[in-house]
Amino acid sequence: NTSISVVDPQNRRSSYQDVGGLSAEVARIREMVELPLHRPEIFAQLGVDAPRGLMLYGPPGCGKTLIARAIAQQTDAFFLSINGPEIIQKHYGESEELLRKIFEEAQKHPATILFIDEIDALAPNRETVLGEVEKRVVGQLLALMDGVTSRGKVVVMAATNLPNSVDPALRRPGRFDREISINPPTKAGRAEILEIHTRFMPLAADVDLEWIAAVTHGFLGADLAALCREAGMACARDGHAEDAGSPFFVRLAHFQQALVNFRLSTM
Ligand code: ATP
Repeated sequence: NTSISVVDPQNRRSSYQDVGGLSAEVARIREMVELPLHRPEIFAQLGVDAPRGLMLYGPPGCGKTLIARAIAQQTDAFFLSINGPEIIQKHYGESEELLRKIFEEAQKHPATILFIDEIDALAPNRETVLGEVEKRVVGQLLALMDGVTSRGKVVVMAATNLPNSVDPALRRPGRFDREISINPPTKAGRAEILEIHTRFMPLAADVDLEWIAAVTHGFLGADLAALCREAGMACARDGHAEDAGSPFFVRLAHFQQALVNFRLSTM
């Protein structure tokens, strides 16, 4: 009796405005996903198959999940999110059945984005895996992808930071045949991401996000989000010590403190 471990536990809402530094990538993904979901009849009329699978690759923490969730939100699609290692490890021996049920669930809604994070764990290259169970799971996933009707409705978005470990059969036409890399942010991208994560923060006049973007080379989106949270915490501690009644402003010093803590925690 395998249950489907749906889905988006925090049911967080996100929109394209929450994704920083990836406008070209988001535009390309929207092109591929929105038309098939919104106007599947176009593909039917043209007699061509709509894209079914899209692979996003790049290091974790750069916004792959964020993009998938934003697309689902903005297209009014049902968002189903699963995690490769979880399906394999927690449901060992039941993974095939579980996958079948997940794809079945996806087909029940008028439009669904099925997001598979860390797909490399579900579909490793069959030439390099030894276990029969693992091989069967790959086969099952291939069969399920082939069974997704080609006329829109379900778009499967997969994410991996190891694209070359994924079984090549999965990357053939009709499966995950579109690939987009989601790279660590540039300085301009970091500034945009900082902008997003400080949107609801009362910032003091001395906070220069461009400067913070310049000194955070190598920080990914998730790091920048953590940095902003940490600066907020530093401010809360300060305000608490000074005068709990006065309005709080997050100052540059709080970001500097957060940067020091961040560097210490990753050393
Ligand atoms: P994983 O492969 O681990 O799922 P991911 O690339 O999907 O990683 P997310 O889970 O989308 O990364 O990012 C984690 C968090 O970091 C997001 O919820 C968001 O707060 C922040 N973040 C990451 N990238 C960006 C970005 N480009 N713009 C704004 N926030 C970002």
